Amino acid sequence: MISSEKNFAWYKSLISKNMSYMEAVHSLKKRYSAVGKPYFYKENFENVVKGDDVKLRKRRKNSKKGLYIHHILEKEFSNLSSKSGIKNNKIVFESKKEELFSNQVEYFVTQIPDNLVFCDVLEHMILHAKSSYEFNGQGKEGYLALRGKCKKMVSNCTRRSC
Ligand SMILES: [Zn+2]
Repeated sequence: MISSEKNFAWYKSLISKNMSYMEAVHSLKKRYSAVGKPYFYKENFENVVKGDDVKLRKRRKNSKKGLYIHHILEKEFSNLSSKSGIKNNKIVFESKKEELFSNQVEYFVTQIPDNLVFCDVLEHMILHAKSSYEFNGQGKEGYLALRGKCKKMVSNCTRRSC
């Protein structure tokens, strides 16, 4: 198979209804290397959650060229990469944590490498679409933002004729 056909088959399998959100996450974990470190620095994250007036600092060294990092637990809690999202989700986390994990689990679990996955822009959009479909609209905001990003990429590409 030539590579564009391979790519098409890959995206098609990812989109398929036979593949659940978590199965898609696992396929992406197999496709790319594991994310090495938590998304944010723990102390900084906890200070933001506490309400300190500090800037939320993302760990830049985690990034891989051209790839995004998706928060897998966005199927439960929205916008885990934004300051307002993190602050708003703290209460929801406390109410759901026993059912989802155990009472000992800290909110920072949403940011640890096990709960992160690399993906390209299309894969990221597909993950958010699946999450929204399977989990009651959870992740829909991300889906709409990524859809807009994809649209922009297409129009830029057409203008530059790439
Ligand atoms: Zn995401």
